[in-house]
Amino acid sequence: MPEKNPKCPICTDIAQLVGDIPGRIPPIARFAIYHCPRCHFSFIPEYRTDYQTVYSEAYYRGQGADPLVNYAFDHQRPEITLRQYEWHGLTDIFRTLMKYSAGKARWLDYGCGLGSLVRYGRQQGVNVFGYEPYGSQNQPNQISPAEQNSGSYLLPKESLQKESFDYITAIEVIEHTADPLAFLRDIRPLLKAGGILFLTTGNAKPFRDRLAKWSYAGCPDVHISFFEPETLALALEKTGFKPVYAGYIPGFTEIIKYKILKNLGFKKRSALFDVLPWPILSRLADSKIKVTALPIGVAF
Ligand SMILES: [Zn+2]
Repeated sequence: MPEKNPKCPICTDIAQLVGDIPGRIPPIARFAIYHCPRCHFSFIPEYRTDYQTVYSEAYYRGQGADPLVNYAFDHQRPEITLRQYEWHGLTDIFRTLMKYSAGKARWLDYGCGLGSLVRYGRQQGVNVFGYEPYGSQNQPNQISPAEQNSGSYLLPKESLQKESFDYITAIEVIEHTADPLAFLRDIRPLLKAGGILFLTTGNAKPFRDRLAKWSYAGCPDVHISFFEPETLALALEKTGFKPVYAGYIPGFTEIIKYKILKNLGFKKRSALFDVLPWPILSRLADSKIKVTALPIGVAF
């Protein structure tokens, strides 16, 4: 535990200790979680920095810090993985937000991991690229990007040109960053003026009084930064974006469908799922988790 209360990385006010959460991978530790009373950012100030251990091959195979993700399976079995629902929803949202320019708009998936979303988007005919800022040295080496269709669309850092993208996604990435403002400042120059940053993360607001029991905060070895909509809006404003509350865009139905089924323990898609009334079920779930209340960022 820090000797004195840490400053909020978003607004610099003094944060308050609100609980602690046990980690999942050795060496097992308890992580103190702090909350900023001013901007409502919640964070783990003393986070793990042994990244080789935390982001191990086991992590990418769903046997590490977050048992609900299995990026290796998603990438090797794209035709059956449950995650295809999320890719579908994200591609729909890209088309909705880019409207008439969707045919030629350049989309970058920032923090693309193995590039599975990039490959899916390419198959759907959209102009998407991927970039993985945190390296791939621990990713399962038998599914290297080179052997996948997405390979040539995964860009190295030196190929990222300023103001060259119309649209950037960061899907479940910002909660892994210790300095979210630096993360947003790294992304901002890559967007053209008027370009859109669409990021997904949990919304901490419905869980403010029980953060240590919130399932999203339950993998503190890797999830260390938690936002409420107003917090994310402030972070966007400080880094060159105008926050816009786009609300429930239709693609969210597939994204929330994925989240619901994932949290129920399902790994594979099924025709049986498709008979359920997802537009209603997703809105019901969203009335509890409120992920669509988080703003998007428009570059100005
Ligand atoms: Zn704050």
